[in-house]
Amino acid sequence: MDKRVLVTGGSGYIAGFLIRQLVAEGWTVHTTVRDLAKEAGVRRLLAVDDSRLHFFAADLNADAGWAEAAAGCSHVAHLASPLPAGVPKHPDELIVPARDGALRALRAARAAGARRFVMTSSVAAIAYGRGRGVHHFTEADWTLLDKPGLTPYVRSKTIAERAARDWVAAEGAELEFCTINPSVVLGPVWSVDYSASVVIVRKLLDGSVRACPNFGFGIVDVRDVADLHVRALTAPHMAGERFIASGRFMRMREVAEVLRAGLGAQARRVTTRDVPDWLVRIAARFNPVARAVAPELGSVRNQDASHARAVLGWATRPEEQSILDTARSLLALGIVQP
Ligand code: NAP
Repeated sequence: MDKRVLVTGGSGYIAGFLIRQLVAEGWTVHTTVRDLAKEAGVRRLLAVDDSRLHFFAADLNADAGWAEAAAGCSHVAHLASPLPAGVPKHPDELIVPARDGALRALRAARAAGARRFVMTSSVAAIAYGRGRGVHHFTEADWTLLDKPGLTPYVRSKTIAERAARDWVAAEGAELEFCTINPSVVLGPVWSVDYSASVVIVRKLLDGSVRACPNFGFGIVDVRDVADLHVRALTAPHMAGERFIASGRFMRMREVAEVLRAGLGAQARRVTTRDVPDWLVRIAARFNPVARAVAPELGSVRNQDASHARAVLGWATRPEEQSILDTARSLLALGIVQP
């Protein structure tokens, strides 16, 4: 039987690992890119059987191309969504494509008669807006959109997941919808066009982080996130499901310590000094990155992935391995000079 799946955003970091795993498991993959000029480069990187991978041009901000991309697909994994390294001038630069693009992909999936739609949401839709202290999050939680200081990215992922769930409840018919909600995705990078999540490790390695703010994040490996998508695409009874994909919450200084311990001289520019909260708050007055970090200072967000383990038999690599594999690939690709 022809197993045919649409993976949106084929030029992306997670999508690359997902497409490779799907092709290895016998799927034919349709994928979207904004511009077909990217096709040749993505094909070269993925190095899968060309006849099992088909490219379609589709932008989250426009209707063109989505119907063609989804045609013939029984399954859809929707990963395309803007994930910038910086902070945009206006939140709508992220919110509109994230929300409207998810709805475009959903409408195309339903029109194509797809049975299963897996959306890559984020812990950004679950674990933000709580402030200082130690917090424990499960799939029952939602980011508090009315709290001040949420970044445009956090808002975009929360609004997009809510809009998608509302659409499915009202118009999804037989389409089984679920989300994967990863924390910060690390692991081997295979291209100089890497995801914004990897920038944290790059900045520690190249010394542009001079001291570590009292801030952290859950860590999960890109290979494990891809694997969880495949499980969610293929397991029975996924309608309405939501799966946190996260390992341990680590403060930035702990990540720096892993780099120092694992890389020796190659980590000589990695700092393990702390920067006091008050200094980050002052910097936040004029620096947009510090402004994004400041509301999360002192907040420990433990994101519990036991649901994915119990329901989907998901297993994860140690966080240390993901951190070091990220760093080694950045060094090997020459993105960071040793
Ligand atoms: P990525 O490498 O930046 O990939 C994002 C993809 O979205 C790229 O293929 C990009 O295409 C596409 N895209 C962005 N804006 C678009 C638009 N207007 N129209 C069409 N495509 C557009 O990021 P990633 O880490 O693989 O992330 C994939 C998904 O996982 C996203 O939904 C992200 O929010 C989610 N996620 C990521 C992390 C993480 O830490 N990386 C954590 C949680 C959730 P171009 O190549 O053309 O820019």
